Amino acid sequence: MNVALFGGTFDPIHRGHLAVAKAAQQEYGIKQVLFVPSSSPPHKRGQTLTPFIHRYAMVSLALSGEEGLIPSLLESPEQLGEGGAAYSIDTVRRARTELKRSDRLFFIIGIDAFLDLPKWREPVPLLREVEFIVASRPGYSLGDIGDALPESLRPPEPVRRVLRKQAAKGQVVLPGITIHLLPDVSERVSATQIRNAAARRGGHLEKLVGAPVAEYIRKTGLYRSGVEAKSEKRDKVVPIALPKRQQSS
Ligand code: ATP
Repeated sequence: MNVALFGGTFDPIHRGHLAVAKAAQQEYGIKQVLFVPSSSPPHKRGQTLTPFIHRYAMVSLALSGEEGLIPSLLESPEQLGEGGAAYSIDTVRRARTELKRSDRLFFIIGIDAFLDLPKWREPVPLLREVEFIVASRPGYSLGDIGDALPESLRPPEPVRRVLRKQAAKGQVVLPGITIHLLPDVSERVSATQIRNAAARRGGHLEKLVGAPVAEYIRKTGLYRSGVEAKSEKRDKVVPIALPKRQQSS
């Protein structure tokens, strides 16, 4: 069976995430896509994230009725323990223990996130453990993929120069490593944009996140205190006001 992990902060999950997962399902015959909200993403340390329980609830609502799209607790606070960070290599190894040897494991990621790969923990073993599916976007080239490979795997500069002229699609195959490029499924939506829309209270969230998640955001008042409603920076997380006892550490 083909299984994929799709990790993210999902703060909140949106139609861009679903589009990527469904395209991957179709393209690579994936039976199960596990959506793995991270309780403690190492690259977002120091930023305020919506508590895991809300993000997990929204993932569950968004995936209800979606065949083969499954909410996962692989990076829940209980799994990670106090202060534990969610490193993908650990998550992948944990996921493997629940799979059959014959199962094929994929790892879905947006191209913007893939570009940070050299900063991840054990990027080369990770590339060998799973087949990456990188959701490409217009404007990215194979050269960007080459540049993002850990140094020991990076093609020499003259080769990368040629790759920069080729669109990021098809497959990159290295010994023991396969990276699939899923072309042009990207929807023009980000979680940052949704948090900002929710903070303005006027945004039409249904179109971006679907009715159940929009209703959840409205009912719980998530993102309401969005003092940074004008910021559209993808890496900025808008603080949310919740009673003290509900805040994650
Ligand atoms: P934020 O705006 O808070 O940075 P985000 O919308 O990028 O959030 P994440 O939960 O950080 O959402 O993303 C999880 C994964 O989904 C990442 O690999 C990211 O690159 C990818 N992704 C997010 N939005 C899209 C989109 N619209 N199209 C394709 N991939 C996306």
